[in-house]
Amino acid sequence: MKKPKIMTMGEILVEIMTTQIDQSFRRPGNLVGPYPSGAPAIFIDQVATLGIACGIIGCVGDDDFGRNNIERLAQDGVDISSIYKLNEHVTGSAFVTYLKDGTRDFIFNITNSASGQLSMEHVQEAYFKDCTHFHVMGSSLFSFHIVDAMTKAIEIVKAQGGVISFDPNIRKEMLNIPEMREALVLILEYTDIFMPSDHEIALLTNTNNEADAIKEILEMGVREIIIKRGKEGCCYYSEKEKIKIPAFKINELDPTGAGDCFGATFIACRAKGMDARQALIYANASGALAVSKKGPMEGVSSFAELDEFILKN
Ligand code: ATP
Ligand code: MG
Repeated sequence: MKKPKIMTMGEILVEIMTTQIDQSFRRPGNLVGPYPSGAPAIFIDQVATLGIACGIIGCVGDDDFGRNNIERLAQDGVDISSIYKLNEHVTGSAFVTYLKDGTRDFIFNITNSASGQLSMEHVQEAYFKDCTHFHVMGSSLFSFHIVDAMTKAIEIVKAQGGVISFDPNIRKEMLNIPEMREALVLILEYTDIFMPSDHEIALLTNTNNEADAIKEILEMGVREIIIKRGKEGCCYYSEKEKIKIPAFKINELDPTGAGDCFGATFIACRAKGMDARQALIYANASGALAVSKKGPMEGVSSFAELDEFILKN
């Protein structure tokens, strides 16, 4: 049987959100959801929506939150055969409220959920048979057994000549643990395509300066760096090229998932043979469409939708 070409691994969640700006979790209030979520799940759903054979390794509980997410992934074309249903843990969840200043506040149940149980035993070499690209989300690396599992997956894909992309999506607390910082730097050393947000570019380097960080990362052997700058668009750096693309003008409804859709679209376009500039334009459109819809995975786009949006804008 044919196995996925693009793969990722990590948290598979549901998200439940408040309906009012500045709504507090300290008092009862109206909520909407559960929406399928989790950065790697959003990423892979966007890849599937662009028509590429893809799959995700992850864990859910034997509950309706898990089925909520898996059924969406399957419906959109993601291979779900390596999603493990655990009996002793429930599916991870995130409650989110949006604040006046545009930031978000989360209450997570991830570490103690099924997603927190992911380990090396879930990484089966046979599943990687046709894998040419593996994507790592830094947000998934919240325990050492997950880091070990991720390293195993990366080594399998590298050994068969595949490409590794890495979106740091780092929670600051992770960097306070020296071993975790070392693990993230190790992943960066394996990385071919690095896709940080602008505030993340220097987090794993020996400098605070963006230009020096870019130089240092390229010298480590990373081939391409794409910096995501929200409504300012994105920048691309390689040994030979530097490209800057402004964002599309759009009314931002829900920023969650923009970076994941952006990254997925860039990787999918490159897998289809497009050059960096063309892939960046599609990725920008994908990020813009993602923020214009409420719900983390609700904003994924097909090529037909991206083409129509680009033409109009
Ligand atoms: P996250 O906060 O979810 O980690 P991120 O920081 O990884 O996201 P962003 O830079 O917020 O990613 O968004 C990714 C891309 O989506 C941007 O580079 C841009 O192309 C597009 N995008 C994001 N926000 C907007 C916006 N308000 N208007 C237009 N495009 C946007
Ligand atoms: Mg952002």
